Amino acid sequence: MTTAILTSPVQAAHDEPSHVERAARLRAIEAALDASGLRRDLVDLAPQPAADQQILAVHQPRLLQVLRWSAGQDNVWLDMDTYTTRGSWDAARLAAGAAVTAVEAVVAGRVTNAFALIRPPGHHATPAQPMGFCLLNNIAIAARHAVATLGLDRVAIVDYDVHHGNGTQDCFYDDGQVFFCSTHAAPLYPGTGAESEIGIEDGYGTTLNLPLPYRTGDGGFQQLYDDVVLPALRRFAPQLILVSAGYDGHWDDPLGPLSLSIAGYAALTQRLLQPARAQRVRRGHAAGAAGARGAPGSAWPSRDGRAGCLGADQVGARPAPDLPVAFHRIWRPAKRMERRQCIQCEFRAHIDLFNIGCIR
Ligand SMILES: [Zn+2]
Repeated sequence: MTTAILTSPVQAAHDEPSHVERAARLRAIEAALDASGLRRDLVDLAPQPAADQQILAVHQPRLLQVLRWSAGQDNVWLDMDTYTTRGSWDAARLAAGAAVTAVEAVVAGRVTNAFALIRPPGHHATPAQPMGFCLLNNIAIAARHAVATLGLDRVAIVDYDVHHGNGTQDCFYDDGQVFFCSTHAAPLYPGTGAESEIGIEDGYGTTLNLPLPYRTGDGGFQQLYDDVVLPALRRFAPQLILVSAGYDGHWDDPLGPLSLSIAGYAALTQRLLQPARAQRVRRGHAAGAAGARGAPGSAWPSRDGRAGCLGADQVGARPAPDLPVAFHRIWRPAKRMERRQCIQCEFRAHIDLFNIGCIR
């Protein structure tokens, strides 16, 4: 197994030191990579900027005009928490291009997996609008490229950022070729991602939202993956799995309330390799993209096929929490699905579509 990493110092030109989404995030991950010894397991790939045509396959022309204009300005706030600098347009094109390059390398079989260590982040950016620290939707651009240009029929995006990937969902809500699954804290920004949001038209049944209670923790996440996420992925049988790997669900993140540990993230990555390996027998691959916003810290497959951990899981004297109460609360939405299976046909369809079995 070969895992590539794609990153670039150009991305540091998008920076606002007072903002939580700042250039220091990637520098911290790079430093931790070097210190951990994982770097020697990774193959460096040089990202290329995304072409206008690749961006326009996802975003409206007006969005490109705004971002291009912002490159001539010292500092622009597109909304209350989304900024640009003179270097942001170049950084954003390179981030999206890194995700595209990663997908091309995996689909061509040059590497088994790839990790795009990129910013500005992307999963809140809708086809029409930058928002939530995000300028271009990196993972959506890569997924669209995989379908439209590389000829794949079924691409899955798994988003374990603590926030709902509303922009990614919007890009593929009516698209049956891209399966989107988001686990996210609720209630939390941006307020979307209810379990009832399951896609429309050709995309009906290819959006799976799993809003979670605060402090769900490693145990809750792992059981949710085993009982809901992985069965849904197996049913869709993706040829390519993309991961919006936001790490703001980590227990030490100042914004995210989901209480995952680094070991917990590694366990999720390990689980996502299962359907990837199964599909590879026919034709399929796994790729990761750090396109969502989150804290420094990471986990991904290493050379031996196991998920590697980056960094220690304790900061100061505080251990990662183990919260069984949250583990039980996680089943409330699942049990509501089951109950509605008996009385409302749309939830019977919901369960049938996602291959989620009876949960008692
Ligand atoms: Zn987030």
